[in-house]
Amino acid sequence: MNRIYDLHCHSTASDGSLSPTELVSRAHEMGVNVLALTDHDVTSGLEEAEKTATDLGMGFVPGIEISVTWSKSRQTVHIVGLHVDRRSETLQQGLKKLREFRNWRAEEIGRRLAKKGIEGAYDGACEFAGGEIISRTHFARFLIEQGYAKDMRDCFKHYLVKNKPGHVPGDWASLEAAVGWITGSGGQAVIAHPARYKMTATRLRNLIGEFKEVGGTGFEVVSGTHSKEEIGYMGRLAQQFELQASCGSDFHSPSNVYLELGRLPPLPEVCVPIWDDERWSGIN
Ligand code: AMP
Ligand code: MN
Ligand code: MN
Ligand code: MN
Repeated sequence: MNRIYDLHCHSTASDGSLSPTELVSRAHEMGVNVLALTDHDVTSGLEEAEKTATDLGMGFVPGIEISVTWSKSRQTVHIVGLHVDRRSETLQQGLKKLREFRNWRAEEIGRRLAKKGIEGAYDGACEFAGGEIISRTHFARFLIEQGYAKDMRDCFKHYLVKNKPGHVPGDWASLEAAVGWITGSGGQAVIAHPARYKMTATRLRNLIGEFKEVGGTGFEVVSGTHSKEEIGYMGRLAQQFELQASCGSDFHSPSNVYLELGRLPPLPEVCVPIWDDERWSGIN
C-alpha cells in the first residue's frame, strides 16, 4: 500500500493555527502515515507533536524551516531540515539569533504601520502569536481582524511585501549556516517550495549549485503551493542535480480550505524519494 508522507507543516509554535497535538491528530484523520513538523525557526513544538504521533502510532520526523537571506539581492528563501536533532547546541544558537531578529523586525513593522495610521499592530500581532516567534502571518491576522484586508493574500499584497508600508527587509541566516546547522545535527537539508521564489531558471540553478556545495541534498518537488506543471519541472531539476525529492503541504490552518494535510500528488517517477535513506529505516 502507498504510504502518505507530509513533510512540511506548521503549528502554533510558529505561524500555524493548530497546536502540535491538534495538528498531528488532524494529519492522522487525513490518513497521513509519516508527518514532519517544520515550524519557522523554532523547535519548541516537536516534543508535543512527537508524543502525540507516538500515541497514535503514526510516523513522525522532527523538522524545522529556517529563514535564509540569499545572494547579493538578499532574497529570502526557506530551507527545511528533516530529522534534525533539537538538542544540537549549534542549531539552537543559530535559531535563537533568528528569533531575536524576528522580535526586532516585529517591533519595526509595528512602527512602520503606525506611521501609516495603523495603531497597535505590534501588540495585536502578539495576541495571535502562540509561541516564541512572531511572523508576518500574525500581523496579517491582526490586519484582517481590524478590517484592513479581506484575506491573507490581500493583506500580504497591500501591507507586508516589498514597497508596502509594513515591509522590513529580512536579515536571516546565510545559506551555508542554515544547511550547516541542519546537517551538523544529523538532518537532511531541503530547499523548500522552490517554485514559490519565481526565480529565473538560471538563478534557481545557481541556488541549487550553492546549496549542494554547502551540503544540501533535498528538494521539495511536491508542495501544496506548486502547480502540476511546477511539480514536473522541479522533478526534472531534482533528477538532473541528483537531489532527493521531498513532498509537503505547507499546511498552516484549516481556514485555508485549498490546502489540507496529506492531500498531495505523488512524486514524479524520475525522482528518488528523500525517505530512501537510512535515517528513515525505523519510520517507512
Ligand atoms: P515571515 O517568516 O514572518 O516573514 O512570514 C512568512 C510567512 O508568511 C510564510 O511562511 C507564509 O506562511 C506567510 N506568507 C507569505 N506570503 C504570503 C502570502 N502571499 N499569502 C499568505 N501567506 C503568506
Ligand atoms: Mn508560514
Ligand atoms: Mn516557507
Ligand atoms: Mn512553511
